[in-house]
Amino acid sequence: MRILISGASLAGPSLAFWLVRAGHEVTVVERARRPRTGGSPIDVRGPAVDVAERMGLLPAVQRARVHTEGIECVDARGRRTASLPAGVYAKAGDRDVELERADLVDLLYGATKDDAGYRFEDSVTALEQDADGVDVTFLHGRPERFDLVVGADGTHSVVRRLVFGEESRFLRHLGLYVSIVGVDPELGRENWGVLHNVPGRLAGVYRYHGKADAVFMFRSPELSYDHHDLDQQRKLLTDTYAGGGWRVPALLDAVRAADDLYFDAVNQVHLPTWSRGRVTLVGDSGYCASPLSGMGTTLAMVGAARLADALAAGLDGAFERYEQAHRPLVATAQASVSHGANMLVPATGLALWRRNQLTKVIPLVMAARRMFRS
Ligand SMILES: Cc1cc2nc3c(=O)[nH]c(=O)nc-3n(C[C@H](O)[C@H](O)[C@H](O)COP(=O)(O)OP(=O)(O)OC[C@H]3O[C@@H](n4cnc5c(N)ncnc54)[C@H](O)[C@@H]3O)c2cc1C
Repeated sequence: MRILISGASLAGPSLAFWLVRAGHEVTVVERARRPRTGGSPIDVRGPAVDVAERMGLLPAVQRARVHTEGIECVDARGRRTASLPAGVYAKAGDRDVELERADLVDLLYGATKDDAGYRFEDSVTALEQDADGVDVTFLHGRPERFDLVVGADGTHSVVRRLVFGEESRFLRHLGLYVSIVGVDPELGRENWGVLHNVPGRLAGVYRYHGKADAVFMFRSPELSYDHHDLDQQRKLLTDTYAGGGWRVPALLDAVRAADDLYFDAVNQVHLPTWSRGRVTLVGDSGYCASPLSGMGTTLAMVGAARLADALAAGLDGAFERYEQAHRPLVATAQASVSHGANMLVPATGLALWRRNQLTKVIPLVMAARRMFRS
């Protein structure tokens, strides 16, 4: 079949990997000039580790591992108020891998770029399907007909909008915004996440492999801004964090200087079905669980493999089989986020104090749990 995938981040290239091996002719269209490599380290978890192994990429994924030693919280003057070493929350025998998002993007793109046709700086603008195929119009390229179209174009998916309707019907705002931007490594502590909170706002620096990312997360009702306008996103951040203590002024300087940053609402995507006719969705476009879940990469890689497996058994009923196989993992991931926001971005001074006290107790609780298990 001729299959079009929209989006060349994690879900798109993961799916392309399987489809070209199954003998399909695959085109991947990506709006950006090249695969976007920003972002903080991400996790390849549980079933996604098995998928990486099936792809033959696990050794490379493991070589790229980031060795986070823990998280510490600091006050406005940089004094430590709480600390959580990674040993406390890592499970023994855990095969999960934390690695730079850029490394995983490079691996997946590298494993597919010779076999799939990648087209950068382009986007789908219209889709019209009948029983036998989908006619696709592009912003730049000439119109083409495909047997299937897959939206792997993230939370603000254009494929989803064109086929299922306006995104406001499917996005569930979790009351937070998140932004990630590369900063001077001198601002961070190697292999640690250093976090500074005031009520409703978090600013932090994660440093690994001698590089560092600033992470901003703040509570806010839905904001109206243009997702493609970097200046607006920079201004939202600098206004929100103006007057901040600790290293916030230096982090905001990096925001002002950045030519690419990740900025988005912390959203989930909920759809009653991920497929319509000859169009389906994979990854965040269909079932984003939000960065609070730590499961975005896993859902994308496992979803892509399950969709490819379902197609390998025949086109008839393939999308139903894909949904049946993948829904339970998505539901668990989406339900897992309820406490994350309160831990990361406590809303009030009292909640912040409680969070810091809790962080002191967690190592004891975890040690006790380990004792009972052994
Ligand atoms: C630059 C960047 C940084 C990120 N940083 C983090 C992070 O630090 N922590 C975290 O938990 N998650 C982060 N994410 C999200 C994370 O990658 C996803 O949650 C998850 O891995 C699922 O991937 P996905 O491929 O489904 O979606 P995404 O990773 O969101 O990828 C969607 C892709 O589609 C492309 N696209 C969008 N619109 C169009 C269009 N109209 N036509 C063609 N292509 C289009 C985008 O440019 C992007 O490459 C980041 C995403 C991006 C793009």
